[in-house]
Amino acid sequence: MQEAIPKTISLILQKFPVHKIYSKDVVVRCPYCGDSIKNTRSCHMYISKFPIDGVYRCHCFRCEKSIPLLNFLIDNDLIKHVPKEEIKKIYEADTTIPFSNLIVRKERSYRKVATQKFNEDNRKIQYIKNRIGDIPKQVKKYIITNFNFEENPKKREWLNRDFVGFTTYRRCKVICRNISDHEQRYLNCNLDMTEDYFLFYDKNLKLLDTGIIFIAEGIFSLLGAYNFLKRNGKLPGNSIYVASAGKSSITSCLRYVMALFGVADWNVTVIGDSEVDHTYYVRKVKSSGFFNMKIIYNKHGDDFGHPDVREVLEIIV
Ligand SMILES: [Zn+2]
Repeated sequence: MQEAIPKTISLILQKFPVHKIYSKDVVVRCPYCGDSIKNTRSCHMYISKFPIDGVYRCHCFRCEKSIPLLNFLIDNDLIKHVPKEEIKKIYEADTTIPFSNLIVRKERSYRKVATQKFNEDNRKIQYIKNRIGDIPKQVKKYIITNFNFEENPKKREWLNRDFVGFTTYRRCKVICRNISDHEQRYLNCNLDMTEDYFLFYDKNLKLLDTGIIFIAEGIFSLLGAYNFLKRNGKLPGNSIYVASAGKSSITSCLRYVMALFGVADWNVTVIGDSEVDHTYYVRKVKSSGFFNMKIIYNKHGDDFGHPDVREVLEIIV
């Protein structure tokens, strides 16, 4: 592989100083999942020429991200340094995707969801504050009020008028909530099909210590519970806060957190929805591989997304 595209390979090795070189593969630290936090020398992103179809691909054996080499070069800002003849070689091996389209499309949409300016007076920000109170500092950078990155003009117009969005942690999705309480309450923008969830964490997170993963079924319940615990001086610190997309994805969401941070030994606190029995949560959490857990409910019926949370019911498993 190195003989066919030597400049490409040397660019990758320069960009990723921690790497391994084998006869058929080059392995670097995965820029998509960040790779192992505990071992900063370990590498999971394999860049290889696949023997069956001769296509150059990148595959991470940690987060399972799998993409053509060209996309990898675009994502990591290397494509502009790759000589034309090497791009041609990589492209010709991969005849399944029209090359020029791919570059234009990727550059147009994938990176557009940059951090947006946070404006307290924006009516969409006001909507969030009316529902959950203050917006935690760490969350502000994930809030999207402007959807001009959306390519479909009708969807873009609707999102800009009626929705506020939250980007997921790796910015592969934007989860959008209708602020005018229309029957279509949620809408997603998928920038990438990689599995990704909304999360934030305490400042100075100590991954080597033990901590708590707070998981809620939705972003508003998560933020509501966070604010409630904060108001009552009950935030434990050293915690990760994550929202699954509904109750059925709790297991995969916790596995995602485990893969991202390597926190298999941490405790889990489920922020429960009043309509869901605690045994359901126990099943979901245990099948994700976590065993120390508890569930909290808003004692007075509503879920935590409701502004009036006064007391918490705790079920320790
Ligand atoms: Zn990865």
